[in-house]
Amino acid sequence: MNRILAAIDGERIARHIEQLSEIGRTPQGGVTRLAFTREDAAGRELLRAWMQEAGLDVQRDAVGNLIGALRGKNPDARILACGSHIDTVVNAGKYDGIVGMLCAVECARVIHARGGLNAPLRIINFAMEESARFGAGYGFGSRVMSGAPISKQELFARDRSKVLMARAIQELKGWETGAKIATERTALDATYKDIDAARYDWTRVRAFVELHIEQGPTLERAGKPIGIVTAVAAPTRLQIILSGEQNHSGTTPMNMRRDALAAAAEIILAIERLANEFAPRQVVGTVGVIQAEPNVMNSIPGHVELRADIRSADADAKRECVAAIQRALKWIASKRDSDIAITTLTDETPVTFANEIVNALERVCAAENIDAVKMPSGAGHDAAHIARVAPAGMLFIPSRAGVSHDPREYSSSAEIARGARVLCAALIDLDQTA
Ligand SMILES: [Zn+2]
Repeated sequence: MNRILAAIDGERIARHIEQLSEIGRTPQGGVTRLAFTREDAAGRELLRAWMQEAGLDVQRDAVGNLIGALRGKNPDARILACGSHIDTVVNAGKYDGIVGMLCAVECARVIHARGGLNAPLRIINFAMEESARFGAGYGFGSRVMSGAPISKQELFARDRSKVLMARAIQELKGWETGAKIATERTALDATYKDIDAARYDWTRVRAFVELHIEQGPTLERAGKPIGIVTAVAAPTRLQIILSGEQNHSGTTPMNMRRDALAAAAEIILAIERLANEFAPRQVVGTVGVIQAEPNVMNSIPGHVELRADIRSADADAKRECVAAIQRALKWIASKRDSDIAITTLTDETPVTFANEIVNALERVCAAENIDAVKMPSGAGHDAAHIARVAPAGMLFIPSRAGVSHDPREYSSSAEIARGARVLCAALIDLDQTA
């Protein structure tokens, strides 16, 4: 096992990160490779070449996921899989998704060079993990592979240039085959078929493991080199509509007002206070949207819409916090004589990762003398979608100052190489029971 781990080449991973960051480089020193654009396609072609060079037989599925296969010595053993994404947000860093993807390819390379595992290995590059281009949910490619339903609304989404998502997916294929897409209708019809065709058979998969940068400050603050992810937080999103009374700001006495924006101010602080109360159970709460009407200086606001996002990896804690928020909001509204309507926009269930993978990661960290810590993930990842259909798990490496989705995003080559070694060791460990 040590021979294989020693062969992991941190310098090569670092070189590939730099090379990839040149595609879609922004003037601010960041990277923009939005999903299904020419830049994304160019980045993924480079990745495909590296996957082939590592010894993988690479196929692209109907929606653009790349799946690299390595045969196992025992073809009856269940499959081991790992991977991540390399599409980015606007003016992103060089590491989000990319680190996990390139570490997975490096693991495949050293495993192949040493004769392979007993189990077949699959290295997966998921298409469109980021929702930055079309604004729909994250992890399109992994959701399609997992067989999760994709809503019509999502395929009808448009980017800033009014390109339909279904058309973008078809265009990507067209660049390779030369096929032209006649209308949006044909793009939609083709995409529905592609989504069915790209559903993956997970019944033969023993484990899916994703390495990712933490994108938060926890590991760095705790001085820990590796995070073993136990669960992924999921959001509950509330739309809160307050109705008071719009009136003249000069002539309405203070004791005769029903100011919806002042009520909203109390509500924002109440959500923050309650999220703080539940913070020991890993709850976070944010009001990120406020729209006041008429939004002019000489009118008392009569109507306000707020949108709140409450997350936790602990489903019970989140439910209790949301219930407490609902009670507090109704009380504040009645005290201020405002009408209130609270609508739940989404209520997603947190994902718990498979114990056997958490245990395998703990085992290999202990064996390598790595002081790892178990932690939940506040951000969503492809592995969270795969966890609904196969045993899945994740490991994190530190992000400097917790910065992500920004050109300042950084993880050191040493941290990345250490992550690759843990990922590889976990695959070898899981291979013994595949
Ligand atoms: Zn990511």
